[in-house]
Amino acid sequence: MNTFGEIIDKISAAPKIIIHRHVHPDPDALGSQLGLAASIRAAYPDKTVLLAGEGVGDLAWISTMDQVTDSDYQGALVIVVDTADRPRISDQRYNQGASLIKIDHHPNIDPYGDLLYVDTSASSCSEIIGNLINAAGTKLHMTDQAAASLYTGIVGDTGRFLYPSTTVHTLNLAAQLISHNFDPNAINLKMGEVTLNQARLQGYVYDHLQVDISGAAKLIVPQSLLQSLDLSAEDAHVVVSTPGRLKGVHSWVMGVEQSDGSYRIHLRSQGPEINELAAAHHGGGHPLASGAKAQDEAEVQQIFTELIALQQQFNE
Ligand code: AMP
Repeated sequence: MNTFGEIIDKISAAPKIIIHRHVHPDPDALGSQLGLAASIRAAYPDKTVLLAGEGVGDLAWISTMDQVTDSDYQGALVIVVDTADRPRISDQRYNQGASLIKIDHHPNIDPYGDLLYVDTSASSCSEIIGNLINAAGTKLHMTDQAAASLYTGIVGDTGRFLYPSTTVHTLNLAAQLISHNFDPNAINLKMGEVTLNQARLQGYVYDHLQVDISGAAKLIVPQSLLQSLDLSAEDAHVVVSTPGRLKGVHSWVMGVEQSDGSYRIHLRSQGPEINELAAAHHGGGHPLASGAKAQDEAEVQQIFTELIALQQQFNE
């Protein structure tokens, strides 16, 4: 593990910096990526700073990516934010630069990079980037754009400051960020916005959630439903936290059917740690919020059976 000082020195010395994040970006991935970029661009107007990764879909209101060519990587410092393991880095050219830094808040299952900074106690990667900028003195600048991006990431990964990962420090940093010139209310509204068909999907969740006596629950979101609502598998992400509002539901698995018949798995918990269960099904993530993959509906059921066992152990 390296210090902020070592990372800041490396940033100061690099003429060109390319910042990557994970596939299927969420507000924290994009917020930490753009927040870091904005703070570097303001402190070093002569440096080239590029954002790399696949398209961001409906999250273009947070950030859009740059066109990054193969030759851009020559002599570049590459920084990967919010990404636990190399296969999940969006744009696999991340290893074509002169050096590589990992900055993340997920369990450090794949300690890649020449320099690395991982803090699993941070609510979000955006919180770590905020700490990095604050530690840098004049070597990085907390601009209004950096503050807005980092605030967006923190709001996203804390479920608007509701999840247990929210600490006194998280709130102090958020308070510092909203002293900048941007509209936090507009961000909060945008973050909670759903389309009418996404709201209909919320209704489906309540109608179809299967709740075990242990407090573990399961939901399958079939392709046919997504198609009838004209939603993509990504759009279904807005309902991932919905079961947690129900009395008697303490952990849940949501399987979203993909167009090839496999399932993207979302695991959430308010008690038992579920990231090892996710890892056993080609996934990973945080102790209380993880993702995985299932080949078919039988594997989703298998994950549910394993989740019930974890919930039962936790209840004992
Ligand atoms: P999601 O359910 O997609 O919102 O993901 C919850 C958390 O698990 C996030 O921190 C993701 O980065 C992580 N995650 C999701 N899918 C995977 C995967 N296939 N492998 C490793 N981590 C994942």
